Amino acid sequence: MPDERPGKKLWDRSAWKDAAFFWTYLSPHKAVFIPALLALAGTAGLTVYFFYLLLQMVGPALDGVKGQPLIDAAWQWVGPVIAVVGLQAFIAFWRILLFAKASERALAALRMNTFAKIIRLPMATLNARRVGELASRLANDVESMRETLVVTIPQIIRHSVMLVASVVIVLCVSVKLAMVMIGTIPVVLVLIAIFGARIRKLSRRAQDNLAETQVIVDESLQSVISVKAFRNEAYESRRYNEHLGIFLDTALRAALPRASFIAFIIFAFSVALTLVAWFAIRMVGNGEIMHSQLLSFGTFSGMITTTFMSLPELITQLQRTLGATERVREILEEEVEDLDENGPAVRLRGEIEMDNVNFAYATRPDVTVLRDFSFAAKAGQRIALVGSSGSGKTTTAALLFRFYDPTSGKISFDGQPATQIPLHALRQNLALVPQEVLLFGGSIGENIAYGRPGASQEDIVAAAKQANAHQFITELPQGYDTLVGERGAQISGGQRQRLAIARAILADPAILILDEATSSLDAESERLVQEALDKLMENRTSIIIAHRLSTVRRCDQILVMSGGAIVERGTHDELIDRKDGLYSTLARLQLE
Ligand code: ADP
Repeated sequence: MPDERPGKKLWDRSAWKDAAFFWTYLSPHKAVFIPALLALAGTAGLTVYFFYLLLQMVGPALDGVKGQPLIDAAWQWVGPVIAVVGLQAFIAFWRILLFAKASERALAALRMNTFAKIIRLPMATLNARRVGELASRLANDVESMRETLVVTIPQIIRHSVMLVASVVIVLCVSVKLAMVMIGTIPVVLVLIAIFGARIRKLSRRAQDNLAETQVIVDESLQSVISVKAFRNEAYESRRYNEHLGIFLDTALRAALPRASFIAFIIFAFSVALTLVAWFAIRMVGNGEIMHSQLLSFGTFSGMITTTFMSLPELITQLQRTLGATERVREILEEEVEDLDENGPAVRLRGEIEMDNVNFAYATRPDVTVLRDFSFAAKAGQRIALVGSSGSGKTTTAALLFRFYDPTSGKISFDGQPATQIPLHALRQNLALVPQEVLLFGGSIGENIAYGRPGASQEDIVAAAKQANAHQFITELPQGYDTLVGERGAQISGGQRQRLAIARAILADPAILILDEATSSLDAESERLVQEALDKLMENRTSIIIAHRLSTVRRCDQILVMSGGAIVERGTHDELIDRKDGLYSTLARLQLE
């Protein structure tokens, strides 16, 4: 769903909070930012002043001065005009430079903080949000804040200063005429208020509709293989067309008020202009103002109109950013995991105990995923989790990592409650070899070093050797420096598993969580992976989410799971003897 709060009124209380939030990032740069703001106001004032001087220069010509006196009168303004232009250019240069410095630094800090926050969110929070949504906050919302800071706010300031300065000049020329002109402004304001709200609502809805079509594009391209394999191109096209139809409908409905609005504004504006012109000419006729004053009045009225008309749009943009700011602020206000990253290292022996653990995911609190789950593993033992899909094996592993905490019951390591071990230290003692190994963009060496950032090249190579990966790595064109493509595409499944094993060997954990790959490898690959795994499991406690009988056979204890509970436990030999047991049934199925 697209976010339903694309903008907010400037007078909302939370709008001020958003502004204050903006300021917390800018304030470290205030020594640069505030001078830049002042310079901005200065250049805006100088722009108006430039036109003022120019009009002073040409004024006498309109008022009938001729010959040498006219040239002399004009000449005295040339110096000041050039001085103003020069000063303006000088200030503008510094203004832009300082502004960029302050705002880009502030926004870079904001991006860093936001990403650091997102990556430290607890799994439960991450589960509750869509990954795309979080990524979009970092990309689009911060980008829209950047635009506001670098473009919109400077323009608002610039136009406001120019507006005020022009009004002052127009008042100086003729209060009476200025009043006639300013009198037409409320008419425009009322029109904007009436039509503006409706147009905004409809165009916002159109944007949402458009975002929904984008979701379809993303989804179908992400799983384009399924789309093609199931020959669903026509179905996806239809789905897209349907949603685009809705967008088109809304967009066209928005066109009607917009057309009336614009037509009406043009009409009202022209009438007002004619009215003012009529008054002005009458005043010239009556000798109340001179020709040069009429020109000044016309020029600055033009400036008033353009700056004034631009403000609603600029303010709308500002409101939209406040919405974006709030979304970023929300992320930054989320609780992160209490990792204690700088805490002392803890070396566990590898004893694990789960005692009467019950668990339900926060997103589905009514479904108990693990019930009365208890087991104990001595250091160095191998425990297999066996059971059909959805029986809770992955969840058990996640609880050991403390990605989630049990609803009730206790998990302890080396007799110590898991909650009392700092998270960072706990996870240092655990390593995961996942079923699907995704490699990060970067070199093979870097991918192995992920297990222990900062590891030396020798350690990386030693780990790769133990994981039976060294040979295939050295056969690659750039060896350990070979870059892996998007998602490590050009490395085979068995090789990827061995890289994951090397990563775990490098991490040297006391406890290993192994999610056995379900897809079968060819015999040679299988042997290499199995050998590597055996080396990895030596002297470590291993929890294996097992899919193969060969693995399970050699485990000290097998926990057979069904519906989140342990229904049978024992060694392979013990369990296979129970002819009507779940395990022996599963085993028979595998052997057949
Ligand atoms: P297994 O690994 O044995 O296939 P899981 O531990 O993945 O089983 O899943 C156990 C149950 O928990 C399933 O019913 C699954 O739908 C549910 N489940 C898994 N992950 C989540 C999650 N993040 N949020 C809500 N429910 C989940």
